[in-house]
Amino acid sequence: MTASSWEVVIGLEVHCQLLTATKLFCGCSTRFGAAPNSQTCPVCLGHPGVLPVLNAEAVRLAVRLARAVGGTLPPESVFSRKNYFYPDLPKGYQITQYERPFCEGGEVEVSLRGVRLVVPLTRIHLEEDAGKSTHGGHGLTEVDLNRAGTPLVEIVSEPALRSSDEAAAYLEELRNLVRTLGVSDGHLEEGSFRCDANVSLRRPGAPLGTRVELKNLNSFTFVKKAIDYEVARQREVLEEGGAVIQETRLWDERVTRPMRGKEDAHDYRYFPEPDLLPLRLRSEWLADALPELPGTRRRRYVDALGLSQYDAEVLTADSATSAFFEAMLAAGAGPKASANWLANELMGRLNTEGRSVSASPVAPQDLAALVVRTQDGRLSSKLAKEAFSRLWAGESAAAAIAAVGEVVSDSAALEAAIADVLGASPDEVAQFHAGKTKVVGFFVGRIMKALQGKADPQLTQALLLAALEARRPT
Ligand SMILES: [Zn+2]
Repeated sequence: MTASSWEVVIGLEVHCQLLTATKLFCGCSTRFGAAPNSQTCPVCLGHPGVLPVLNAEAVRLAVRLARAVGGTLPPESVFSRKNYFYPDLPKGYQITQYERPFCEGGEVEVSLRGVRLVVPLTRIHLEEDAGKSTHGGHGLTEVDLNRAGTPLVEIVSEPALRSSDEAAAYLEELRNLVRTLGVSDGHLEEGSFRCDANVSLRRPGAPLGTRVELKNLNSFTFVKKAIDYEVARQREVLEEGGAVIQETRLWDERVTRPMRGKEDAHDYRYFPEPDLLPLRLRSEWLADALPELPGTRRRRYVDALGLSQYDAEVLTADSATSAFFEAMLAAGAGPKASANWLANELMGRLNTEGRSVSASPVAPQDLAALVVRTQDGRLSSKLAKEAFSRLWAGESAAAAIAAVGEVVSDSAALEAAIADVLGASPDEVAQFHAGKTKVVGFFVGRIMKALQGKADPQLTQALLLAALEARRPT
């Protein structure tokens, strides 16, 4: 067998911080960046004798996400204790959901370079976050418990992803989704959207291979690099006849390093949390209106607006881009032309400067005004590009369009220019009449030059041919 006949199998576990003001089981603030240990209380510090009280807002947000992915919501779910020792876990256990999560199944539709991909989910459960250990100066490890008790949802995908590109596209879609729903801010760098990846290899059709869990993937680039590295590492182990060891590995800038042997579920001695009742969902949470989701919007762009899957993917990649596009449509520009100008001209230029659509110096209404002029033929593509450069430089649409001038589609003006050019080129006129039709291009070039490139191309062509016929010797 060849090296390429390994199939890559990836499942992702995403921990996503819910946008609540307070923690999951106490009233402490969840604000990011406060002084260490300033947002704590006896509950989240794990003092003896305290009792957790479930934050209803966290459940409401979690249910929004579950409904958006089409998950099944059992009428009752159960919190469990996951027991382990770690300095940033003062209780000695984490309250999570284990055997009976609040959401089972569901799926996320992803678009990757114009191809649709449906990623099935195993489950989504609610849990509290642990604190944070920092291995700082003075050779000390410091513990900040501000994050302890912060509400999270863990979104577990099926091992259905087959490449690092698919994994990254799925993550971006999921982040776009939680932001659109207002469920999470999705900040990877602040740790409110974190990803672990389970990676294994197998021969196509064979049972799943031994998986390795990758941690510390706190950017989309790291997710891709860590998975690619791990796939290459496992392939080498397997092709040398070795066996992959089930373990947790940490991404460390260029390589993945062993962190610890992988625990199995029984190591955590899960049991139902005795201090919390089973969770029953409120009917108003299940009836809460949802906004148009990125996947639905993409389908609408393809089905109703006639855009390609690829264009729809680009335009729905984040909410700023789709809001820009929607504003162009609202200003009267057509969908295909708007998609082209936004995705190619504007985003192309923004990308070269490393800027996003939300930082565009061109307003959607101004770009739409320019697109409308190209659609009604008053701006040629050459003039429109000149006008676009002026928009980019900060001019208004009216000023930019006035400065480049509109296409000359006035027949009298065109006929005068044609008469001048033909009169000045008797040899070429004779060549045309002798059957050398290629000289038409020469005449068009001269006419365009005389009118500073603003002649309406179709009308010019028609009037030119008529003028040449009128001059044909009898
Ligand atoms: Zn607290």
